[in-house]
Amino acid sequence: MSESFLRPETLAAHAMGAIDARTGAIIPPIHPSTTYERDADLRYSRGHCYSRGDNPTDESAAATLTALEGGTQTLLFASGMAAATAVFQALEPGDHVLAPQVMYWALRSWLSGFATRWGLEIELVDTSDLNAVKAALRPGKTRLLWVESPANPLWSVSDIAALADLARRVGARLAVDSTVATPVLTRPLSLGADIVMHSATKYLNGHSDVVAGTLTTARQDEFWARIKAVQVQGGGILGPFEAWLLQRGLRTLYPRVRWQSASALTLAERLAVHPGVLEVLYPGLPGFPGHDLARRQMEGGFGAMLSVRIRGGREAAIATAANVHLWRRATSLGGVESLIEHRASIEGPTSPVPDDLLRLSVGIESVEDLWTDFDVALTAASAAQGE
Ligand SMILES: *Cc1c(COP(=O)(O)O)cnc(C)c1O
Repeated sequence: MSESFLRPETLAAHAMGAIDARTGAIIPPIHPSTTYERDADLRYSRGHCYSRGDNPTDESAAATLTALEGGTQTLLFASGMAAATAVFQALEPGDHVLAPQVMYWALRSWLSGFATRWGLEIELVDTSDLNAVKAALRPGKTRLLWVESPANPLWSVSDIAALADLARRVGARLAVDSTVATPVLTRPLSLGADIVMHSATKYLNGHSDVVAGTLTTARQDEFWARIKAVQVQGGGILGPFEAWLLQRGLRTLYPRVRWQSASALTLAERLAVHPGVLEVLYPGLPGFPGHDLARRQMEGGFGAMLSVRIRGGREAAIATAANVHLWRRATSLGGVESLIEHRASIEGPTSPVPDDLLRLSVGIESVEDLWTDFDVALTAASAAQGE
């Protein structure tokens, strides 16, 4: 069967069907070589020259992701931050950029420093509010609209198709940080985005053992060529061992994300009626502001990230996180093991995150075990507050 007829689950599971031509190995080899032999006439007829520029171990994971996202090319970076920052570094000093008010914290802090030195004019806007975005876009001046959906850590959902349309009308590009949605649940390029970014450290690899980032483009245009130059010349490439692990992780992306999303929905529904909970932030809950949009834009689930605001404030939230046993108190997300984190403590005084909020990354454990562990921890924390 030709690849173009195969569904994404199959492409991911088979890593695009690549079998090592020389040995017949089902699993592709790792190529640690930094350099490749030239032909006698000085050409590189076998296509590889030096591993900062192109690395055969990257090709399998990059081709798989290109197919899953419906793009034309994917670059693998040393981290999600290296991928995201390459997009901003491809802009010119003086360019106007719209970025979300609620977004991945480390990128927001990097932008505030970089923008000042590079002369970018970064304006933060609520990207879930189309009128606000429309008002902020400046025709001929705004070059990039950056969106994260669902966005860390309040999980607000932005309308990618509508934003792509708004951006296109003023000559701006739309780039989407789709780390939380993954290609399993949303395909931003098919909705009109120009570039999709992932922290592959999270769901794409999925096992909390690789730091990596990706960009996939709809078109290989002049802006994409600049992004590639930022990567190849700046050197933020992914090493072959990490690229190989990422390819392995991608094989199980679909069952992991679907299972994790189903568990997250169950937990969100139960937590929403727990007496110790003030509010659950999760796109899958009917009362959530972005729910209707999420139903249209996300397919097969609402993601495996949710946040819970604990009744009793900061102390009760921290006590709940202190009481759990199965959930791991750790930063990051998207691994097979469930994680819990008090974000306001991590982000510090400039954070917009409420201090009664716990961020949950739901893994692949039994949802009943996860529920029991959290319920016992929260009930004990609530009882201690009441004393
Ligand atoms: C983790 C994360 C990043 C940064 O990725 P790293 O791999 O840690 O550099 C960017 N965006 C989102 C949404 C993330 O969760």
